[in-house]
Amino acid sequence: MKSLLLMLLLCVAVTAAFPTPKQDSDLNKYEELAENYLKRFYNLGPLVSRIGRKKGPNPFAEKLKEMQTFFGLNVTGTLDAKTVEVMEKPRCGVYDVGQFSSVPKSSAWQKIHLTYRILNFTPDLPQADVERAIARAFKVWSDVTPLTFTRIYNEVSDIEITFTAGDHRDNSPFDGPNGILAHAFYPGNAIGGDAHFDEDETWTKTSQLYNLFLVAAHEFGHSLGLSHSEDPGALMYPIYSSTDPNQFHLPQDDINAIQSLYGKSSNPIQPTGPSTPSRCDPNVVFDAVTTLRGEMFFFINRFLWRKHPQAYEAELIFIQGFWPSLPNNVNAAYENPLTEKVLVFKGSKYWVLNGFDIVQGYPRYIYKLGFPKTVKKIDAALHVEHLGKTYFFVADQYWSYDENKQTMDQGFPRLIKTDFPGINGKISAAVYYRGRLYFFIGRLQFEYNIDTKKIVRVLRSNSWLGC
Ligand SMILES: [Zn+2]
Ligand SMILES: [Zn+2]
Repeated sequence: MKSLLLMLLLCVAVTAAFPTPKQDSDLNKYEELAENYLKRFYNLGPLVSRIGRKKGPNPFAEKLKEMQTFFGLNVTGTLDAKTVEVMEKPRCGVYDVGQFSSVPKSSAWQKIHLTYRILNFTPDLPQADVERAIARAFKVWSDVTPLTFTRIYNEVSDIEITFTAGDHRDNSPFDGPNGILAHAFYPGNAIGGDAHFDEDETWTKTSQLYNLFLVAAHEFGHSLGLSHSEDPGALMYPIYSSTDPNQFHLPQDDINAIQSLYGKSSNPIQPTGPSTPSRCDPNVVFDAVTTLRGEMFFFINRFLWRKHPQAYEAELIFIQGFWPSLPNNVNAAYENPLTEKVLVFKGSKYWVLNGFDIVQGYPRYIYKLGFPKTVKKIDAALHVEHLGKTYFFVADQYWSYDENKQTMDQGFPRLIKTDFPGINGKISAAVYYRGRLYFFIGRLQFEYNIDTKKIVRVLRSNSWLGC
């Protein structure tokens, strides 16, 4: 039943342009799920009775509000489709406390040289791969602090690592495949610091579910005294994020949290990490903007904001959560409405997306589209539907590509300022939407009418994101 629900949710997310809200009658089915979730992760006490709940303070609604606040959802205290969606996501078994990103300093380890021991191995991976994933996960934390981690074999260590399934006698049973993936204990004696991985999961060393290194790095954060972060880009965010493990860099939010407990590393060059973009930051600059089957996608470093025309707010998602092999920090993207495919550009390569699949045989070189070898990257691209042309913007020039003939038009490149009067400066992204062109330049966005060759409006670049 549970996997059916999950499959149902996945299907909705993949096939429909946007998941349609569940009916209220459907939501009743999720009440038990919600109750268990809040008991487990928000310390909800036993509920007296359904009738009792309607009078006086409603502990269920209060805890639900806490959870909705943590995840940046609409804080209503009632179950809605978005809330259920978050509750169904695979996550860490440690509770969410909010506000504090770590234990008090006095509860952290009072030493910097820590030991670990791997008590058993998952059969999902060769032993050497497990050892490598665990060592790399510790290195994530030792790189930014004075902490060191030494593996020992024959005596009890500070951080004991086990793979185990179901009830394993620590009052926090695992739940079979998906759901809770792992948990770890805050610093202390005995079980303190220990990390347990659910053996009912399939552990991988790739982007496939679930990458052991990513989960271990998160769990060791708890072993060192960090609690969950509300920052969806942080390693200590409780929900598993599908990101490319090879491109992993510890985010700044986590660096700040661990350094508040143990101080900075002795490295003369202090490591810094990526920050999560904030929707209403006036300085936000998109890498690329495109439509995709009626929705808008705004790419920014590791993330994209997904915006449905009927939704006020946009949703922040890891790029690799949708397309695991797409790179971060892309340069340009556009949708060809005839083929319903999206082309994404980075450097001299491009990928073709068919919905949530990457078309086989990509990436290819942009020179196949007819660019000269002097072009090393494209700043922005858009397809003008009523002309059947795709424009590629490179520095102060642009190229025109005929999608029907599949060739670059003669007489290009031409100067942008000649053919688009008023459009000056470096174009970071561009999109065609309902007959108009939108150029993103710095903090601003220029709405442009290509037939009259006039700027219609000047907007802030993040005006689409409900700011
Ligand atoms: Zn956790
Ligand atoms: Zn456990």
